Amino acid sequence: MPKDYYKVLGIDKSASQDEIKKAFRKQAHVHHPDKNNGEDETKFKEINEAYQILGDEKKREQYDQFGDSAFSGQGFGGTGMNWQDFVRQAQQGGFSSQGGFGGQRVNVDFGDLGDIFGEMFGFGGGRRRSRQTGPQQGESMEIEMSVSFEEAVFGVEKMIRLSRVVKCEKCNGNGAEPGTKISKCARCNGQGQIVQTRSTMLGTFQTASICPECHGQGKSADKPCSNCHGQGRAEKQDDIKIKIPAGIDNGQTVRMQGLGNAGERGGLSGDLYIHVRVRPNKRFERNGSDIITIEPISVAQAVLGDTIKVETVHGAVNLKIPAGTQPSTKFKLRGKGVPHVQSSSKGDHIVIADIKIPKKLSRKEKKLFEELRDEKSGWF
Ligand SMILES: [Zn+2]
Ligand SMILES: [Zn+2]
Repeated sequence: MPKDYYKVLGIDKSASQDEIKKAFRKQAHVHHPDKNNGEDETKFKEINEAYQILGDEKKREQYDQFGDSAFSGQGFGGTGMNWQDFVRQAQQGGFSSQGGFGGQRVNVDFGDLGDIFGEMFGFGGGRRRSRQTGPQQGESMEIEMSVSFEEAVFGVEKMIRLSRVVKCEKCNGNGAEPGTKISKCARCNGQGQIVQTRSTMLGTFQTASICPECHGQGKSADKPCSNCHGQGRAEKQDDIKIKIPAGIDNGQTVRMQGLGNAGERGGLSGDLYIHVRVRPNKRFERNGSDIITIEPISVAQAVLGDTIKVETVHGAVNLKIPAGTQPSTKFKLRGKGVPHVQSSSKGDHIVIADIKIPKKLSRKEKKLFEELRDEKSGWF
């Protein structure tokens, strides 16, 4: 069915580009689908279609010559595009992509529409209630904590003083001075948001913003709590117990759920993250869940063998040094290392034999070594 685009826009065949543009704006304003719950969607599409053709000098020429059959299969008609798609396209940065409007490149003048779309998208479609009025989780906090080597191995509980936002104890979070009433917010009539109606070239838009009076709660205290000034939460110096689990390593982070700032409007509290620094230890060195020590062994012990006492973090342990132990030999004391976090197993204690060569010898000792050398037994 041939369409009269001039008629759609309500203009004369001799209309100038300027007049076409004005007519489009006027028609689009009247038939904007958002204004009539989408009832005018078809009409709006038609207007747009007309403008795509007539607003483009070249297409208009073709249309004048061949009618709308020149554009059949390219227009809006029958593409199944609805207003939501239209908006989505606009949001995704225009209509230049193939297939957006049935494969046709559509140039809507968005110079004037930008702020409308901006507002609409900002509120997820303009008339939906903003999520910001609901409960909001409190912010998480991060702290750094230094622990000793032993504290890291065995775990530790520490009390720390932390300044954080907690639910106001005086008003129990409702923001009202105890004993006073909480009323429906007069500014937003309990809605928590203020809806503003704005007329634009595409129609009348409603934009919702959070009520500045009640901050979206829809109610406000007749007399704000004197402790939190009606906020329902207040900053407090708080002593809290920190639990560092056994086996924590330098640079690891402990998350304590719910120990961050209190949530807003009944939202969950944030978490507390503790970044752990483990101070080095003079005696023990740590490698993951293993503990390493270097133990001095005399030449005689290395040659003849012996049993030595090794201090581990779990107490002293006897270690058998076999005869003929070579320098830097490693011995493993199973299960004498660091506990694995969240497991009952433990790492090992690794002993590295440090065979001490005597620097000063008594006359007798020197003689004995010389005798050994002259034995020519082959072990030198
Ligand atoms: Zn309070
Ligand atoms: Zn309000």
